[in-house]
Order: sequence, then structure tokens, then C-alpha cells
Amino acid sequence: MRGGGGGGIDDEERLADRPARSDPPELLDPPDPPDPVDLPDPVDLLDLLDVDGQVRLLTGADTWRTVAEPAVGLRQIVFSDGPAGVRGPGWDERDTSALLPSASALAALWDEDRVHRLGVLLGDEARRKGVHVLLAPTLNLHRSPLAGRHFECFSEDPLLAGRTGAALIRGIQSRGVAATAKHYVANDSETDRLTLDARIDERVLRELYLAPFEAAVRAGVWLVMSAYNAVNGATMSESPLLAEPLKGEWGFDGAVVSDWGAVRSTAAAGSAAQDLAMPGPSAPWGQALAGAVRSGQVPPGAVADKTRRLLRLAARVGALTAPEGRGGPPAPAVDLPAAPGDTAAVLRDAVAAGAVLLENRGVLPLAAGRLRSLAVIGAHAGRPRAQGGGSAEVFPHCVVSPLEGIRAALPARVRVLHAPGPALHDEEPLPVGEGLCRDPRSGAPGVRLRVLDVRGACLYSLGLPSGRVLEPELPPGSDTVELAGVLRPSVSGTWTLGLGGFGRMRLTVDGEVVLDGEFPAETDDPAVVHVRPPLRTVRVHLVEGREVRVCARRQLAPGTGRATVLAAAPPAPDPAEALAEAVAAARAADAAVVVVGTTDGSECEGRDRTDLRLPAPQDELVRAVLRANPRTAVVVQAGGPVELPWRTDAGAVLLSWFPGQEAGSGLADVLFGHREPGGRLPTTWPAVLADAPVRTTRPAPDGRLAHPEGLHIGHRGWLRTGRAPAYWFGHGLGYTTWDFETLTRLPGDRGAPVTEFAVVLRNTGARAGRQLVQVYLGRPDSAVERPVRWLAGWAAVEVGPGERATAVVRVPARALRHWSPEAATWVTEPGPYEVMAGPTAGDLPLRTVLEA
Ligand code: BGC
Repeated sequence: MRGGGGGGIDDEERLADRPARSDPPELLDPPDPPDPVDLPDPVDLLDLLDVDGQVRLLTGADTWRTVAEPAVGLRQIVFSDGPAGVRGPGWDERDTSALLPSASALAALWDEDRVHRLGVLLGDEARRKGVHVLLAPTLNLHRSPLAGRHFECFSEDPLLAGRTGAALIRGIQSRGVAATAKHYVANDSETDRLTLDARIDERVLRELYLAPFEAAVRAGVWLVMSAYNAVNGATMSESPLLAEPLKGEWGFDGAVVSDWGAVRSTAAAGSAAQDLAMPGPSAPWGQALAGAVRSGQVPPGAVADKTRRLLRLAARVGALTAPEGRGGPPAPAVDLPAAPGDTAAVLRDAVAAGAVLLENRGVLPLAAGRLRSLAVIGAHAGRPRAQGGGSAEVFPHCVVSPLEGIRAALPARVRVLHAPGPALHDEEPLPVGEGLCRDPRSGAPGVRLRVLDVRGACLYSLGLPSGRVLEPELPPGSDTVELAGVLRPSVSGTWTLGLGGFGRMRLTVDGEVVLDGEFPAETDDPAVVHVRPPLRTVRVHLVEGREVRVCARRQLAPGTGRATVLAAAPPAPDPAEALAEAVAAARAADAAVVVVGTTDGSECEGRDRTDLRLPAPQDELVRAVLRANPRTAVVVQAGGPVELPWRTDAGAVLLSWFPGQEAGSGLADVLFGHREPGGRLPTTWPAVLADAPVRTTRPAPDGRLAHPEGLHIGHRGWLRTGRAPAYWFGHGLGYTTWDFETLTRLPGDRGAPVTEFAVVLRNTGARAGRQLVQVYLGRPDSAVERPVRWLAGWAAVEVGPGERATAVVRVPARALRHWSPEAATWVTEPGPYEVMAGPTAGDLPLRTVLEA
């Protein structure tokens, strides 16, 4: 037996001295500093810089680096996106990364130890790539299920988001790499995200949207990123919320970096507690900020404080040495192995531990020993959706597909029948690459990138693995970006070719122009302009095996971004035939696994979803397969909720999120019962979108996004409306069953910083398992408005069949408090609080009372 999550022992006497594994954020110690080095005092260093010298440091040198200043021993600080991995400074496919499960999957772990381990992995990845600052974690909340970046955020619940984020931050920073709590604050959806003005009252801000950031600051985070949006009328890079509560009340001593391009003013942002404007070099600060100081618009102390914070960050991440001529130690050397050997094992474990078993009618786990054949169906089985789209994207070292994972896990005698099913309607052509295209010059798989001057002379040339270039090297005089490849069609028919980017573009096939035009950028959102520009498509007839030369050219011009994409898709197979093939495979096999999910475009930064349906025709495919073989497990790859209209007919439904590079290996572990599906939902799952208590992400014409639901998002909203979701917050089945037997308060002083509750539960099934115990509070006769109940703590136990275990759940005093705008502080209303424990927010069989 192993105790987990702060509890899990059956000897009550030992309860008091048992170390808690999942301490609430208020109780966490500050993180370990990087290796001790004798660093110069950043305050002292300020004396070496005049105002001009200081402001020079406060705008990025380029997209991912800050400015160096030898006079104070400051080297460039290198930034990289996260949170699904560490892409490195730049978008270069040759620079591959470990790819983690999506943030929503990490919250589904409800396990700070595991999250911490993943943070350490990210920290090591960052060091391996020479990155000082990782732009992760994303601490915004799941307010509406339609939010495009749902996959990148942890939870609908501020406590779960805060504790998960804090654990990841501590892991990352334990390697001397800065984590970044982003996007501060209320960037909970994507529609009009650059201009949206979130109208949220003070108490709701404090208790919901600010709470995970407070936990991050208490965990010792070194950076906070100010969001693009405004809150209550002030854009976040100018917001008073940067000063209070962030730097004042919470005591944040790190630096506030802007979201990319979010600093839009000199004096207003310069006077605010915004410290660093990224990217650079062109931004509204620069020497204009020095001018604003001289003209009295910005106090000199404000610039000095920003500089001090930047230097402190540099000292923390090893980018500050002694100033020139003043001696002192060199910056700590970064000397780690290329990739820690157990990366794949850690990621594979996380896939299984975060997978949520939503339904099971005895189909899972599949007994590999008794199977003679298994049908593996669905487009996502061979080509999984391993990550969400946008700035979080990395180029993974490899991705193990479900098909590969399943094949590797089964003995050779088991026949695996794979049928992808019909093509998905909204699937876009993918960037051309290996298997389809070769570099016309070297013959290597991929394409050739050339940068041309105005006369067409080549200034720069490079072979690339695929036809998507986001940050090409642009020598002086660059005029046009060209991507060219020799495409070898795998089938005859009507192919779709795609050209992505903005500005003047042209696509040719064997020299013949098939697409030509001027495509202006209709937005200035960097996620669209620089990362995922829309594809313009054209259909051309190609013959199997007859090679053609495809060439995309895009003329560089201000405002057209950096991205150029050359994509292609073969003719889709006949949908009826593809469906019939899938049904035949399911019918012929002992059991079937259907892998469905969202597509590359449907869950993505920069836009919200408009519905929660799986891209067609996947529902039809699932229904047909379920009819053909009742022993079917449906595996869902999605970063956030999707409607599963067939869920009660399925043999099993397993949510594997965006699982990252070990998608297939972790999945196979769960399907064949080597591992239990350990995840529990971090977000309530609606049966249909119309039931969700909060839906809209669209601001009013004046740009304001009202939050009329106040404190009642997620399960709190569902409880208030009295509607039943498909699956409650906290739901997840595992492979055994449990009885929740007793809930008792452990001895402790009234008003102590933490109250402990012991929950005894018994594994009533036939195999060992792990169960999560959630504790909620309620206050039926409250003088102030409250949620029906709210999460106060959790712990997990892991025991063998028939065994009992005690989970000790620690509830911090803060869980009883509400924010009082009148008193401007946290207040505990005296009197009784209802304490409830159980497996989900909607199923809490145990109750007791706590007097405050
Ligand atoms: C995103 C951030 C990201 C930044 C840099 C922005 O558009 O909102 O999350 O870190 O770009 O890529």
C-alpha cells in the first residue's frame, strides 16, 4: 500500500506526523535559489546606469532576448514559450523538444508531486536549450468551455489551478530557470483578446481570477506576464492591478514582462508597474521612455524599480556576472546532458496518470492475453492530436501514435486491424514534408527555403524538414521568402494545395501559377499573423508517382508577419467506403478502440470555438463502430470539453487530452491495464453546450465582456442552476470501486492555519487502485453571497483490493474566508460551515460541520 496526496495511511496514530504531499499554497516554502554564486547586488549596479542606460534594458533586443549590458555584467536573458514543452528561442523545426501532455491533463493528475517532476523536466529542457525564462504556466481559468486556450489552462477551479501551477513553477525554478505566471489577469478567452475589457467585480477577481496568480507568487515565481486584455477599463500593461495586489500586498519581487506586443504606451505603461516590454527592438518604450522621465511624465523611481527587477531576474537565472573591470565570478555554467534519459518514461507515466476514464461497462482494461484481434479505428489513431495550436506549440522529438503504442504492447499473434475512417471535414492540408516532398537541391526529405532580394537573387538558402517557416533568417535586402519542393503524389486525383501567410503571395506547380494574390492581414493578433496564418487553397489534379515542383513565394512587407506555409492534402477517400471499412474492421475484431478528437484548427490560441462538437463525421463513425462491436472503447483527444452524444452506448470512454509525445505508449498502458487511468476531471463536462452555465466569450460592441455569473463558474455554476452535467468536476473511474466510509475532523485548534480531515475509504473492487478524495465547504446561511459549495482541499490514497485507507485532507483557513471589498481584506464569517467529502463535486456522501 502506498499513501498518496497527503493521506493514505490506515494507522490513525501516525496521522499527526505524516508529511503532507499536497500542501496548500499558503504553506509552501520559497523555492530553492539557483546555485549560490557571489552576485553583485542589483541595487548597487543601478548606480552604474543613467536613465538612458536603464531604459535601454527594458525593451527586448529581439523577439526572444533582452539587451545585454557589459557595464553591469548583464548578459542577454533568453525567453522561450511553453507550457507544453520548451520550444527554444525561435521557431526552428530542427530544434526538437520533449512534448508534455496539455495543461488540462496536468491538472487532471491532482498530484503536485507528479506536476513538480514535470516542472523539473521543463527546467532541464530549458537549460539544455540555453533558455533562462520559460513562458509558462498559463494560470487563466476555464470560464467558458468554448475558450480557445482551454487546453493550455489548468482548471475551472482557482484552488486546483493555483496548486497545480505552484507545483510546476517550483519544479521549473528548482533548475535555476524562471517560470512565468501568465496571463495576468482575466485572459480566459480569445475573442478580441487584444482589446477585450473584462468587467469583473473586486470580490470575484480576488476569489477566482487572481487566486492562481497569488498562489504562484507565494510559490516564489520569478516572472508574471501582463495580459493583452483590459480589466475594468485599464489594459493590463497599464493596470493598477500590477501594483496592488501583485507587488504590494503579495510582495512579488520579480519582473512583470508584457505579453508579446502588449505594451502600447510610453507614459501610461512606463508609470505602471510594468517592467519589461517584449518583444523588441521596436516598442513604445526605448528612448521615448527616457524622454518621458525627463519631461516628468514618468517618475525616475519607476524606471529604477523596473531595472532593479530586471537585474534581479538576471541574477536569479545566471545572466548576471560582475560588471566589466570589477572582477567576480563567471555566470554559472550550464552543463546538463542533452536530454535526461528518463524523459520518455516520465511523460509516459503522466499520460496514464492523467487519462480520465469517463465511462466503463466492463470493456476496459482489455485482456491482451485473451485477444486474437483488435480493431484500431479513427484518423487520430495513426496521426494523433498530441498538442494544441498557437504559441505553446513545440516540435516534438517524436510522437508515439495510439496505433504504434497498441501494436508495441500486443503480442505478435494478435491481429491489429487499422482503419482511419472517413477524412474529417474541417481538416486542413498539412505542411508538406517527409514522405511527400523532397528538397529540390539536396534531395533530402522536406523543402528548400530561399530568401531572395528584389531582383530575385538568393541571399539565404536552407533545407527544412517541412513547409512551415515562421522565423526565417532575413539578411539585409530581403524581399521574398520562397519554399519549394518536389512533390511525389501517393495517389492520383484532385489534391488540395495550401499557401499560408499574408501579403503578396503566389503558388506555382511546375512553373504554372495556380494561386496568386494580395492577402492583407485582417488582424494584428501575433498568434494569427506570425504563427497560424490562414491557408488559401487550390485544387489541382496530380498523377500517382509523377513528380511536380511546387513553389510558394511571399513578398515581405510591413504588417504581413513572418510566417510562410506550403501545404498539401491528397484526395480524400470515398467517405462511404472509408466508413464501411472501419465498420468491417470493428465487426471482424474481438474488440475495437476508436480514437477521435479535435483537429489542428479547432482548439487553438487566437480564437474561441463556436461549438463543442467533434469535427464531423466522427460522431457518425463512433456510432457505426459501436453498433458493429459493443466491446468498443472510445478514446478522446481534446484539450477541453467536447460533446459525446453516444457516450452512454459506448463500452468505455477514455479522455486522453492532448497527450504529448508519449500519446500511444501511455494510452496502451491504460488500455491493457498495466496502469490505471488515474486522471480526474479538472473541469465540469457538459452533455451539450447549451447546458453550460457560462458560455459566451464574445464582448459587447463596446469591447466589454461582462461576467454576470460572478463567483459561479464551473461546478459552482452547475450547482447553482441545478442542471446535471455529463460529468462533474472531479469525475474519473479508475479500474476498481470505492466506498467512502467516514469523515472526521482531526484534533486541532479552532482558527488554526490548517484544519485536517480524515476520510476513510475502502477499495471494494478486485484490483489495487488510487482514489482521489475531494473536500468541499458550504455555508447555507451565509450573510454574503457564496457558491453552493466550493473546493477546499483534496488528497489521494492508493491501496490493494479490500483494503481501507485514510486520506488526510488539509483545509487552509483561507478556504473559509471571503474577500470583503469594504474591509479590503479576507474575512472569516463566524459560525458553522458544512464540510463534504466524496469523489466528485456532484457526489459527496460524507458530511460534517466545522465551526469557525
Ligand atoms: C501569447 C503568449 C506567448 C507570447 C509569445 C502571445 O501571443 O499570448 O502566451 O507567450 O505570445 O509567443
